[in-house]
Formats: sequence, structure tokens, C-alpha cells
Amino acid sequence: MKVLINGEWCDSLSGKTFAVHNPATGGLVGEAPLCGEDDVRSAVESADEAFGDWAARSPRDRGKILFFAAEEVRRRNTDLGALLTAEQGKPIREAIDEINGFANILEFYHALSAGGWGEYQDLPGYGHAIVRREPLGICGAIIPWNMPALIMGWKIGPALVAGNTLIVKPARTAPLTCGKLAEILAGAGIPPGVLSVVTGPGETVGREIARNPAIKKVSFTGEGSTGREVALDAAPALKRLTLELGGSDPMIVCDDADIGMAVDGVIKGRFYNCGQTCTAVKRLYLYESIADEFVRRLVARAGEIVVGNGMDRGVSMGPMNNRQGLDRLTRQVDAARERDEGEIIMGGKAPEGDMYEQGFFFLPTLIAGVPHDSALFSEEIFGPALPIATVRDLDEALERANDSRYGLGASVWTRNADVITRATGELEAGIVWVNQHLRIPPDVPFGGTKGSGIGRENGSRALDDYTEEKTILIRPG
Ligand code: NAD
Repeated sequence: MKVLINGEWCDSLSGKTFAVHNPATGGLVGEAPLCGEDDVRSAVESADEAFGDWAARSPRDRGKILFFAAEEVRRRNTDLGALLTAEQGKPIREAIDEINGFANILEFYHALSAGGWGEYQDLPGYGHAIVRREPLGICGAIIPWNMPALIMGWKIGPALVAGNTLIVKPARTAPLTCGKLAEILAGAGIPPGVLSVVTGPGETVGREIARNPAIKKVSFTGEGSTGREVALDAAPALKRLTLELGGSDPMIVCDDADIGMAVDGVIKGRFYNCGQTCTAVKRLYLYESIADEFVRRLVARAGEIVVGNGMDRGVSMGPMNNRQGLDRLTRQVDAARERDEGEIIMGGKAPEGDMYEQGFFFLPTLIAGVPHDSALFSEEIFGPALPIATVRDLDEALERANDSRYGLGASVWTRNADVITRATGELEAGIVWVNQHLRIPPDVPFGGTKGSGIGRENGSRALDDYTEEKTILIRPG
């Protein structure tokens, strides 16, 4: 791929590139330009030039381009999905879902572009008050590798409809699909400079986006430690920040829950995308009275997961995306094994066999009877391993669930209205699900509390985050 700057697809200024490998096979998928700070500055220059005309267009005009792009993305979802599988690892069905999810977000913001903008009030004594919503200017989007298309959509949709220009930095191990999606947006009519894509390391490209004073807002999704660095880099320019960081979502299953439904919820919630989803089920709390039956059924269902290359028929879980993530997960599971923290009742290691040798594979892993002070509960487990513990009642379940530095998502599985009322009120999380987990429609705000971040994406209010309010008071003269 090339990078998109000022409407042109170009190499990095240094001419250097980096390779993108398939996490299932180790094969080369493609190359991307190895950009540095100067490439970002050049994108900033073109974004600055493009801003005035783009901001002057009507929101509907801007939204229409997103709509045309969404149509084209849906038409090409199979090819785009195959590219996403090749660079990211997820099974093709999940990859196509993610591509459709990207289109869904663009369509959602297209729909909002037709709504009213700003407010008017009649204020006797002051005259007429108009609150205008104005775009911020140049914005930056820093994307992780786990859901690159979807997360790019969360940022592009509101930023562009609101009239900003945007510089996107994809992750190093999954930049190619982001590049193709940008190509489709450009083809649909996004003018030169309005959308740029700059690939390269976080330490140079990402940091320049965070630091550059001409960039007014940065929306970052990734690890908490990186988010803190972004916040420090952005602080001198007093930038607006949205930080979507890691999570350790608890799932509480009460004794009256529909067990079949909840077991399905764990399978999807933990093993989707090989466990590499910010809002995956990362801690499972089962009421004591149902724990044995639940675990038995969970083991049976998890045993049906087919691990392999995401392009192969019948595969339901691909490899992890990168060596670093696999090593971290292996360390976390090994540490629990060495300290005797719970019993590994399934998996706990990489699968064996020729077809797994070149990839970053790990078996679906269940660890039962994990003590509450285990690192498996306090650290983010970003892979297909699930620590399980039992709880006596709702008091204990809520105490354990909230005993975390994270606060992204949480779910409670029950039929009891009182339990639902109490749990949804007391769980410390940005999103609380009842009898479901993981799925996030673009229609509602999404983001974390505590160490899981600052700000929200999605929903109509994301547009507020990409605009500045200007209050105008007019006294008839
Ligand atoms: P990461 O923090 O390593 O990288 C994210 C992005 O930041 C990449 O593009 C990277 O190149 C860039 N980057 C790295 N160092 C930087 C720096 N100093 N300045 C600016 N940019 C820099 O995260 P990751 O490993 O790609 O993603 C996994 C993490 O993301 C997990 O913790 C996961 O929970 C989290 N996540 C959160 C959400 C959410 O919405 N809350 C969604 C998806 C993923």
C-alpha cells in the first residue's frame, strides 16, 4: 500500500517500507510505507488547506459521500474481509462482519448528517441566542490492530460529517485494510487533504499526531499505557482527547440465568476475534449453585471451536495477531500454572501440528477456581483464555466485578428484574449488558470509565466531541 496525503497515494518521504505478515502462516501479505514525523507534518499541511472548503459544505453533502462509500464497501466486503483476515488473523466470517460494521457506521453518520445542528433561544433582555456548532479543524485518529476497520469507522464517521479533516494512523500489523477503506472513501468523493492515512511506528507517526499543535483533537484506541503517553504528548497544546483503552470485562451469571444462552455468550464473548476484543468477557463469575453444570456445558461448547487459518472452511478461531500478544498471554497462563492459581481445564498452550507452526496460535483456554487475587483477574487478558471463579451471591459478584482498575464493559445474566436494576446501577462500567455481551451498535455511546478511558465514541453525541460550540448573542439594534 501507499499512504494517502493530499489526495495522492505516495511513498514515505524516506522511501522506506515495512512488511505486513499473515499471523496464521507467517507469509508476506503486503508492504506499507515506513513514515516518520515529516510525513505527518506534510499530511497536516494538506489537511489545513482542505479544511476551509470542507467545513463550508453542508453536513448533508459530507454525509452523502460517506453513504456512497458505505455502498461500495458493502459491495466489496468479501475481498476486503479476505484482506483483513490475511493481515489480522480473524476468521473470514468475522472479518466480513467487521467490514459491514464499518459500512454501518458510515451509514449511521450519514443519517445524522440530515439532522438539525446547533440551537436557538429567545432570551428576553439579551436578544436572540444562537449556539453554533463548528468543526474543530484537523483531527487525528490512532487505531489498534484488533478491530482496525470498525475502529477506523468510529472515528471517521463523526469527524468527517462534523466538517473536520482527519489524519488516520493504522497499527503496524494491520494497516492494509485501513488503506483500502480510505481508497474507497477517496473514490466516493472525499476531497484531497480531507482524509489522510499515514503508516508507521507509534513512537514517531503516532507521537507526532499526539504532539503536533495544529491537530486539535486526537482520538486514540489502544493500550492504557500508550493512552497515557498520548495524553502527556497532547497536553501542551490542550488538545481534545478521546481515549478508548483496555478492559477486563466481568460477566456475572446468576442462578436463574438461561444457562444455554449464557454459555453461548461466553463462547462469543471470549473467543470471538481470538479473544482480542476490548470488550471481550475477560472474567467469569458464576453463582456457586450453577457452576458445575455451567462449566461442564462450557467445556463441551469450547471443545467445538476449530482453531486454524481464518481463510479455511470451518475454522471458528484464528491465530492471535502478533508475537508480542502471544508471548504475553503465554506468560500470563504459565504464571498462573506455576503459582497454582486455579485449574487449567482446557487448553493452556499452543496447538500442535505442522499447520500451526508458523502462526501465533493458542488453544481456547479455560481456567477454573481462580483465586480473586490472581493476576488473571487484575491484568487484561487479551487472548483466548478465561479465568473463572464462583461467587455466593450478588453482593459478592458485584464486589468482585468492580474490584478492577478497568471499567469498560460488564454483563449480568439473569431473569430477575430486581437483580437487573441493582446490577446495572452498581456495575462500574461504560456499558452494561443484560443477557448479552460484546455487541456494540453505533447508535449508542461507547467508552470506558476508570482506567478504560476518557470520552465516548458512537451515537449522536460523538458529533459534539468533534465540534466546538460558539454562543452568539444578538441584541436587535
Ligand atoms: P497499542 O497501544 O500498542 O497501539 C495502538 C496504536 O497506538 C497503534 O497504532 C500504535 O502504533 C500506536 N502507538 C504506539 N505507541 C504510541 C505512542 N507513543 N504515541 C502514539 N501512538 C502510539 O494497542 P494495541 O496493542 O494495538 O491494541 C490493543 C489494546 O487496545 C488492548 O488493550 C485493547 O483492550 C485496547 N482496545 C480498546 C478499545 C476500546 O474501545 N476501549 C477497542 C479496541 C482495543
